[in-house]
Amino acid sequence: MNTWKTLITDAELLPLDRGLATMHDGAIASDEHGRIVWIGKTTDAVAHENCRESTRQIDGRGRLVTPGLIDCHTHLVYAGSRANEWQQRLAGVSYEEIARQGGGILSTVNSTRSAGLSELITSAVQRANQFLEFGVTTVEIKSGYGLNIETELKMLDAARAVEKETALDVSLTLLAAHAIPPEFKDGANSGAKQYLDEVVFPLIQHCQGKVDAVDVFCESIAFNLEQTKLVFEQAKTASLAIKIHAEQLSNLRGARLAAEYNAWSADHLEYLDEDGVKAMAQAGTVAVLLPGAFYFLNETQRPPVELLRNHGVPIAIATDHNPGSSPVFSLPLTMNMASTLFGLTVEESILGSTVHAARALRRDDDIGTLEVGKQFDVAVWNTAEPADLVYRIGDNLCCGVAKTGEFVIETT
Ligand SMILES: [Zn+2]
Repeated sequence: MNTWKTLITDAELLPLDRGLATMHDGAIASDEHGRIVWIGKTTDAVAHENCRESTRQIDGRGRLVTPGLIDCHTHLVYAGSRANEWQQRLAGVSYEEIARQGGGILSTVNSTRSAGLSELITSAVQRANQFLEFGVTTVEIKSGYGLNIETELKMLDAARAVEKETALDVSLTLLAAHAIPPEFKDGANSGAKQYLDEVVFPLIQHCQGKVDAVDVFCESIAFNLEQTKLVFEQAKTASLAIKIHAEQLSNLRGARLAAEYNAWSADHLEYLDEDGVKAMAQAGTVAVLLPGAFYFLNETQRPPVELLRNHGVPIAIATDHNPGSSPVFSLPLTMNMASTLFGLTVEESILGSTVHAARALRRDDDIGTLEVGKQFDVAVWNTAEPADLVYRIGDNLCCGVAKTGEFVIETT
């Protein structure tokens, strides 16, 4: 019989395989491969033959132990800051004036293009470690501030380095179709189509087998439905999964199109209609809600949560961390926003950053719940109440994180 490597005892276990039901005096053990091998009562755990002297025992002291949180939508790799631009906007400077000064997404693109790889890695690793402190053990990272082949690949390299240099698992997404770069906007040809042909499509083919998914920003200020479809076709030929930024500012029916391509997720969705919801339900496409951007941009149109519920679409929540529209570092704060701004129940907000976020990344066989056979990725919280994870604003209750059976933030 195998010896247990790590054992947490006396925990208020929240496995999330049965909603918010907790196990009092719970215990959970990992094997030497970082997998969960046993879950049960503490008294049974300490008497178990696999619990030996070499087993590292951690006293949960009655605190909540959950699966590590999963942030399934971030733009974590970038250079530069947009704080000054935000300050100007608050002081009444118009978008046009800010854009004329080189602000907006263009400023992040320029900074990211001129940054060296090591600079991008250093800042992304620092941010990722802040996410970890809030209980996050898996993060999705998108490219999309390079908008040329060289810088998009540099961003993906930086995201891979985050996985190597931190305890986080990283899911990689190519978002070359994020915006049309200025050098194509002024071109004699149709800028978007030329950019897709010369940069996005070659990148997609190059990234076959090297990223997890391809994403598109489908919106009037980015790529239209027809162009989005061309990107999806390219992704399909490269056997890459699909996701989409859709229906954030208007309803272009991008989510419905994505569902037709069996997208893993459709994200934002403030303007999604019932047809789109039905298509997502049928395809099993996860709805990823991003309340941080809604909050920071002072939006008023809420995503159709009731329709998503009625049609059984799984709802995930993510920070959408990015310097322009969601400079949010805390997934628990985002859960609070999802409940206060979008009306999600406590259970929906918790499942949205664990079970359904795992599904949005198609990693639900490995992470998202505490079940035997899954990765021993857990967060320990300084409370026994699941609702506290969502209720508190700005507090950080996370007091321990284990990744594949190793404590990377030690419990105190
Ligand atoms: Zn985004």
